[in-house]
Amino acid sequence: MDLLGGTGGPVRIAGREMPRDELLGWASAVAAEIRGADAVAVHATASLETVAAVVGGLLAGVPVVPLPPDSGPAERAHILGDSGASLILAGGRTEVSSTEPPLLPVDWLSPHDGGVDAEVAPDATALILYTSGTTGAPKGVLVSRSAIAAGLDALAEAWAWTPADVLVHGLPLFHVHGLVLGVLGPLRVGSRLVHTGRPKPELYAAAAQDDGGSLFFGVPTVWSRTAADPSTAEALRGARLLVSGSAPLPVPVFERLSALTGHRPVERYGMTETLITVSARAEGDRRPGYVGTPLPGVRTRLAAEDGSPVPPDGETPGELHVRAPLLFKGYLNRPEATAESFTADGWFRTGDIATIGPDGWHRIVGRASTDLIKSGGYRIGAGEIENALLAHPAVREAAVVGTPHDDLGEQVTAYVVADGIGEKQLIDFVAERLSVHKRPRVVHLVGSLPRNAMGKVVKARLGEL
Ligand code: ATP
Ligand code: MG
Repeated sequence: MDLLGGTGGPVRIAGREMPRDELLGWASAVAAEIRGADAVAVHATASLETVAAVVGGLLAGVPVVPLPPDSGPAERAHILGDSGASLILAGGRTEVSSTEPPLLPVDWLSPHDGGVDAEVAPDATALILYTSGTTGAPKGVLVSRSAIAAGLDALAEAWAWTPADVLVHGLPLFHVHGLVLGVLGPLRVGSRLVHTGRPKPELYAAAAQDDGGSLFFGVPTVWSRTAADPSTAEALRGARLLVSGSAPLPVPVFERLSALTGHRPVERYGMTETLITVSARAEGDRRPGYVGTPLPGVRTRLAAEDGSPVPPDGETPGELHVRAPLLFKGYLNRPEATAESFTADGWFRTGDIATIGPDGWHRIVGRASTDLIKSGGYRIGAGEIENALLAHPAVREAAVVGTPHDDLGEQVTAYVVADGIGEKQLIDFVAERLSVHKRPRVVHLVGSLPRNAMGKVVKARLGEL
């Protein structure tokens, strides 16, 4: 198939390994069963079944909808109903409720050789990926085959990713990060995949030592846990590249991880709608707090709220717009949301606020909807204050939002997980580092922050704490 490379190493997931040819033969058997369907769902556990099912969909040219395996009934019903999937592909022991589409037990199929590989148009929908639901109900994003190919080729170039690499990660297989980069990536590039079942630092360390892991993918929570555990972090010294994405990598974590592993992590930025758009390179500079420069084939620009251009001076924030072959086709069943997300001149509006320097380096300030605090005439990025809080050794997690304030419009409010420190000390600590209007006026010490499956803080739920 055009999308997957011709050869490559085996795939191992949670300790079970299968040679690539056997996996593709299994996927062909899946393809033969689902040909002609409008869309199929995959109960996306971290398993070889998930890979066989997803690749089966690609071979048959049937759009695949990955279902988070532990989602609640409401999210699951939303995804199944919205996508119109006619089958659920999963291991035979998976339970499917009587109101859901029927189960196709993929582990009961035996491999076909030289099986199904339909002729499929490059702009056909390969995946319907639901967004992480950080800011609202997850939206179905239509991702074409050509977008996946363009995105993966751009990454392979940026990260010098070759068949000689051994990719290690333990990310969920129902989002862009774990599935497109983490499974289709190694299949296209031809490198071996070691999926650790869960994204745990000690499993990454074991894969570095026992399997020769060279390329490691993680979300910031994985890297912050790694940085908190020196012996685990040191096991990664032999790696080639540690990549962080899906949410901001706190600057103190970048620095601790660099010191312990001897590697400055590569940070990259993307979203379900754009796959990966901006990244640091394998060769070249890596800067804490920055997500790098646009990937090959990607153009970006900044716009003010009224749509007027914002200069790339490295200081003035604006909404990040993207144009690239790796863009999504639109949101499923949401023509209005699709139309609103593009400008009149055809650029995708990410909804994220960024700065771009004269050297092309991008810094993500945060989401326009939750991370940009408008207080007393200032526009304040939550991330800078979160980084300042995290620089305190007693602080384990921090999330900053704007809450209503009679006089200022919004006030800077912080939710902090910390050991043995008071609110006032934290406010003073930030005050020593940032200008006065950025100092939190309110600090809530909490036991943990609400996070979704990707480890992202769901800011809308902070108020419930
Ligand atoms: P929803 O759209 O349902 O609210 P979501 O936006 O979290 O959920 P994704 O598409 O998985 O769903 O995530 C993309 C978002 O993650 C980006 O728009 C951006 O806000 C954030 N993001 C990704 N990478 C980074 C990064 N390196 N630094 C900062 N933010 C990042
Ligand atoms: Mg989003």
